[in-house]
Amino acid sequence: MSLALLRTGGMTPASFQYRQPTRLVFGENSIDRLGELVRELGGAGAKVLVVTDKGIVQAGHVERAAQSLLKAELSVAIFDGVEENPTTRHVAACVECAKKNNVNFIVGLGGGSSMDTAKGANFILSNGGKMADYWGVNKASNPMLPFIAVPTTAGTGSECQCYALISDDETHRKMACGDEKAYASVALLDPVLTISQPLAVTANTGIDTITHAIEAHVTSAKTPVSQIFSRESWRLAQANLEIVLHEPKSLAARGAMQLASAYGGMAIAQSMLGAAHAAANPLTAVYNVVHGQAVGIMLPHVIRFNAADEAAASGYADLASTAKLARGEDDPQRGVEALLERVLALLAAAHVPESLERCGVARARVPELADDAAKQWTAKFNPRGIGEADFQKLYQAAFHPRPMAGADFGTVRQRKDDR
Ligand SMILES: [Zn+2]
Repeated sequence: MSLALLRTGGMTPASFQYRQPTRLVFGENSIDRLGELVRELGGAGAKVLVVTDKGIVQAGHVERAAQSLLKAELSVAIFDGVEENPTTRHVAACVECAKKNNVNFIVGLGGGSSMDTAKGANFILSNGGKMADYWGVNKASNPMLPFIAVPTTAGTGSECQCYALISDDETHRKMACGDEKAYASVALLDPVLTISQPLAVTANTGIDTITHAIEAHVTSAKTPVSQIFSRESWRLAQANLEIVLHEPKSLAARGAMQLASAYGGMAIAQSMLGAAHAAANPLTAVYNVVHGQAVGIMLPHVIRFNAADEAAASGYADLASTAKLARGEDDPQRGVEALLERVLALLAAAHVPESLERCGVARARVPELADDAAKQWTAKFNPRGIGEADFQKLYQAAFHPRPMAGADFGTVRQRKDDR
């Protein structure tokens, strides 16, 4: 195995393909190009539904988007009923609004929740049925309405991947509905729009970006192409997160975070995610822990757990040397320690709670949480095989304040077929 392959944390898979269907349009004040882009894709007859939330309306971004659409002589309807962690109820309301206004073009303007709701509504509008019908991958048969994603946070990467994350209103299970046809035609990245975020949102979405990059870099589904994006996402995010927290108006740093988020989405589209996301979802579902905080609390413990896997350790070391933290290729475990130290500093800067106790999680519910985590779809892409007993250990470790040096997750069964 060559040194280059060791550094990327594993062998090149026997086969893979890569296609990025989303056109990236980046630039300060590029929101003013929305009308022109919709017209180019949907023609003069485009009837646009802008899917957003009330905070984005208040920030003035919806008005600005609508002005651009009206200037291009397009008809515009607004759905501003999106809320955090959207459910089937939000999607149904959005579909109703779309039908009432007879729209044929969708713009998702806001954070991940707006983009997820827009994608979810697009499934139903173009293919009928209910959200659960599309739980999984490529379940839609009809082409979907053209869709432009305009993120106002830098975090979820939803603008560059084809999954709508929608919770079932009754069961509270988070359904990941993915389809090649659900990609945005354009991701319109305007760093100016991200300045209006409250500081806590900047912090939480920033930690989500960091977690996406680190998890995506080592999953069992990673490819040499996805690692190009996860590596660059990590490089940009780790260098700029503290800057946007201290200088929220720095457009250069905001732009870098926005690109880090988009690159993270491009990586995830291929590599999927790992155990930090699998462990975080039950915390959000049961205790309403904000997604960025939930993944942030679990991340150091997951890194420690996965580092027992040689290929994962090598991937972490690659990230450490990318950020010039350590020359990881000499000794991957030194790289892992350097990465952990940097992650802990970023979590502290973003005020991520130090332990599950601080989030009100009861130790007695760990078995139930672990059972749910092990069933999460992302768990199966974790680089080291992980089951319910392992998740119990991860949650228990997360009750201790950071740093958690000395936490022992045992040795690993080395995979022969590391991809
Ligand atoms: Zn995430």
